[in-house]
Amino acid sequence: MSQFQNIVVLTGAGISAESGIPTFRASDGLWENHHVEDVATPEGFAANPQLVHQFYNARREAAKSAQPNPAHIALADFETAFSGNYLLVTQNVDTLHERAGSKSLIHMHGQLEQMKCTKCEANWAFDGDSSIDDKCPHCNKQTTRPDIVWFGEMPYQMENIWAALDNCDLFVAIGTSGSVYPAAGFAQIAARKGAQCVELNLEPSNVAGDFTDGHYGLASDIVPRFFSKLL
Ligand code: NAD
Repeated sequence: MSQFQNIVVLTGAGISAESGIPTFRASDGLWENHHVEDVATPEGFAANPQLVHQFYNARREAAKSAQPNPAHIALADFETAFSGNYLLVTQNVDTLHERAGSKSLIHMHGQLEQMKCTKCEANWAFDGDSSIDDKCPHCNKQTTRPDIVWFGEMPYQMENIWAALDNCDLFVAIGTSGSVYPAAGFAQIAARKGAQCVELNLEPSNVAGDFTDGHYGLASDIVPRFFSKLL
């Protein structure tokens, strides 16, 4: 039996890198050759909605053909075998965690395969190409957008995430650079409540000092090794 009973795991773009989905800050803060303010802010969407639709259409298409790698699979297998409380919070907008079999999962930054309406707030599953001409299936207005949390917007399910962080005895961050808040502050919150905090990443992140322990290398290698020892 594991020495831990309440585990929260946070993942970022690094866990999907070996599945062929590029990370965010690999090249000077650009995301797939675009400035983030153009494609990942409400102001960018207001200025050029068609560009933003096209950007997420391309991300959605690329993510659909990617496959979960051993790190996604190790987390899903761990969740199945673990008898305590477990929550996986991802900043990723791909669906590789659910396709690997993860169940207790929060997409705090939204997801590519979902659209939402800016007027009636409805959201719905979507796996095609979106455009400014699309109508909301609920209110019939041309007010649809990708269901992605952009910079300056409130991430999803923060109440549930804060509660899980307050109660966890182990917090593990995987493949995240520690540059996007509030996720970058999760280790501090968990540590303040007495949790052990472990970082699994290619290199020490911007907030590495907030963790009790760190293991550095490829996620496909270090994640299965770390979680197999936890059971
Ligand atoms: P980030 O790109 O800022 O940082 C990625 C981190 O992963 C880096 O510290 C890097 O060293 C590490 N890394 C790279 N390859 C790795 C590997 N093979 N194994 C282990 N670690 C590896 O990512 P972030 O902190 O998640 O912030 C990016 C934001 O952009 C998120 O909010 C997310 O919504 C969005 N985004 C999502 C995806 C996706 O869904 N897959 C991809 C790109 C960006």
